[in-house]
Parts: sequence; structure tokens; C-alpha cells
Amino acid sequence: MDRYGVFGNPIGHSKSPTIHRAFALQTGQALTYEALLSPLDEFVASVQQFVDGGGLGFNITVPFKEQGFELVDELTERAALARAVNTVTVLESGTLRGDNTDGIGLIRDLTENNEIALRDQVVLLLGAGGAARGVLGPLAESKPAQIFVANRTAQKAADLASQFVASGFVAGGGLDAVAGVGPFDVIINATSAGLTDAVPAIPLTSLRVGGACYDMVYADTATPFQRWARAAGAAIALDGLGMLVEQAAEAFYSWRGVRPATGPVIADLR
Ligand code: NAP
Repeated sequence: MDRYGVFGNPIGHSKSPTIHRAFALQTGQALTYEALLSPLDEFVASVQQFVDGGGLGFNITVPFKEQGFELVDELTERAALARAVNTVTVLESGTLRGDNTDGIGLIRDLTENNEIALRDQVVLLLGAGGAARGVLGPLAESKPAQIFVANRTAQKAADLASQFVASGFVAGGGLDAVAGVGPFDVIINATSAGLTDAVPAIPLTSLRVGGACYDMVYADTATPFQRWARAAGAAIALDGLGMLVEQAAEAFYSWRGVRPATGPVIADLR
């Protein structure tokens, strides 16, 4: 059977095998999809072994997305912009093509699954790591009035925002600058703070009351940032499960040419 998988470390917690197996069943595609644990310093060798064994494509998760960017032979436009790769296709020639489906995954979950408008909105993107880089381009294409990128390490946010300076509506800085820019209609948390039960240090007044918050982290119960959002008066406070399924669907489509329905898979995972 055609072989796919996801590389990460750790990887045991990953929901990607469940998601891709559900897509395969739903669309009648004969394939396997495994969680692939790579030693931290042996990512390239692990990928080589998978490709030599006939692997046709793979996803990349924490902490290998930037190494994935360096490893591939060619990049889609959105992966080149993100400087991070989460989806790789092994072409017939053996060439590795790197893609980034995180941005489209976030936009679909926000705008299609949850009907959160981005056009003309004032948007705060928290974080400047791989996830933030992956979503900033697609967010900017959604034509918000303004995007402010704020990060604990201010320089990283300023550097990321500077790539989009030509748009005229993207700026970046430290978390301490947020109070002077907001309030925001939509706040997207692309930090990993929630993994340690933390929330980026911004005031509750950063959110316009009745605004929308989105945490890329997901959990069985409300994440710390979802709890923050409710305290700030958010009308909507979502976690990142829908994005996870949507980015997987885009990867599945690029590999198999068939677009799975995401709604039933999101509902099953819930
Ligand atoms: P990363 O490259 O390691 O970046 C981590 C980011 O979080 C950095 O901006 C870092 O700030 C910030 N941060 C960490 N702890 C913080 C704290 N206590 N307070 C404030 N900021 C903090 O990670 P990533 O790849 O961007 O991923 C970020 C998160 O998004 C992860 O939890 C990942 O699981 C999630 N994610 C979810 C999906 C999905 O489909 N739902 C997709 C992609 C990623 P500094 O730069 O100052 O260190």
C-alpha cells in the first residue's frame, strides 16, 4: 500500500494518523499513515530511510519544520514565504517538494467552519515561530484592516512583519506594544505558551469585547488561552483542532488529488 506518515519528536500524541486514516476510509484511498519518531539529531537520515523504503509523502511537526525547509529540493510558493515545511511530496524522480498547509488550514477553520470574518478586521497574531510564519501570508491575503504580530522576543516579530511591510497593514513588536495598538477584533495565538499552561502576557483589554480568539493549541478541555479569551469578553474562543484537520486535508489533497470532507472528522475527534 502507498505509504505516508508524520515525523516529529515526540510523536506519540499526534492525531495525524487518526485523521489521515479517516480521510483514506472516507475517500476509498488505499494507503497507510504512521507516526514516525525521528531522533532529534537524525531527522535527515530518518527521512532518507522512509523515502528509500518507498514512502510517497510525509508531514513534519515540532521540532522539524525548519529543518524540513532546509531539506527539500523544491518549495511551493507558500512554503517559501513561510520558511517552514509541514508537508512533503516525494515526486517520481525522487525529488522532495516541500509545502506549508498550516496557513490555509487556519483560514479554512476560521472563515469556513466558524464563519469568522477577517476582511477589514484588526487582527493580532501572537508568536513568531514556525506556526506564525506559516499563517501570516494567508492571513494578509484575507485583507484585514491591520495585522500586528507580537512576540515575547520582540525582534523576531519585527523581522517577520518586515517581510510584509509592502502590504502597508502589517507591523510587529513585543508583547508590551500590544496595549498601544489594540483593541483587536480577532486574536490568534500561535505561541506554544499553552503547552506549559501559560498565556502570552497581554492585557485583557487587548480584545474588543465580543471579538474572536483562536488558539492553535488544542486540548480535551479549554486551553489557557481560551480561558483568557472568555475572561476578556470574547464571543468566540476556539482551539486549534479544526486547523489541524484542515491542514491535514490540504496535505491529503496534494498527495491523492481527492479532497476529504473535514466536518465529520472534526466532529469525531471532538
Ligand atoms: P515554535 O517555532 O517553537 O515557536 C514558539 C512560539 O511561542 C515563539 O514565538 C515563542 O516566543 C512563543 N512562546 C513560547 N512560550 C511562550 C510563553 N510562555 N509566553 C509567550 N510566548 C511564548 O513553535 P511553532 O511551530 O510556531 O508552534 C506554536 C504552537 O502552535 C505549538 O503549540 C504547536 O503545537 C501549535 N500548532 C498547531 C497547529 C494546528 O494545526 N493546530 C499547527 C501548527 C502549530 P519566543 O520567540 O520569544 O521564544
